[in-house]
Amino acid sequence: MNKRKGSLFIITGPSGAGKGSVLSRVLPSLENVFLSVSATTRKPRPGEEDGVNYYFISRERFDEMVERGELLEHAEYVGNCYGTPEGPVNRRLEDGQDVILEIEVQGALIVKEKRPDAVLVFIVPPSFDILERRLRNRGTEAEEVVEKRLQKARAECAHMDDYDFIVVNDLLDDAVRDLSAIITAERCRSSKNQIKLV
Ligand code: 5GP
Repeated sequence: MNKRKGSLFIITGPSGAGKGSVLSRVLPSLENVFLSVSATTRKPRPGEEDGVNYYFISRERFDEMVERGELLEHAEYVGNCYGTPEGPVNRRLEDGQDVILEIEVQGALIVKEKRPDAVLVFIVPPSFDILERRLRNRGTEAEEVVEKRLQKARAECAHMDDYDFIVVNDLLDDAVRDLSAIITAERCRSSKNQIKLV
């Protein structure tokens, strides 16, 4: 019997939309899923670990990865480069694992072009006011960076309609339920199953 190939999920949401909180609740409840670790030229925030949150690399190393075609997609976001190493994604999908990429809009749209069966999920805050409050309360970025991230958030939300699903993160429990339901529904898709009744 042919082995089921994994599904590719792309989760996008502006800084402060709460993607991290939603994913940290959804992931432990799912089996057989791999969260891709991106490469970035951004400096680690306190508590972030190399190889866990990101591969924190130099601009030179990043450009080298791009030149060698090692990235499935890459984009610049508020002055830093981010990209998805392609090798681990392909290996996990071939192995039947579902893969989640947590990436911004430009990268998501590149992946959708390359892999039309990828499932795109956009996580939005209930309002821009709430987004601003969450970003400032996080306190991890300088004022100038917060302003840039807010502008970026507005631009990103304009692409919401390019996504297959939208999850509003007002109450965390509801957003967790919705994202879990989307992943479960994709796993049940008839074209993804090779069930033979005997
Ligand atoms: P942060 O600096 O807050 O960790 O991430 C900034 C933005 O970059 C977020 O929207 C995040 O989803 C996005 N991002 C993280 N990794 C990647 C990646 O590999 N590719 C792309 N295109 N965006 C990424």
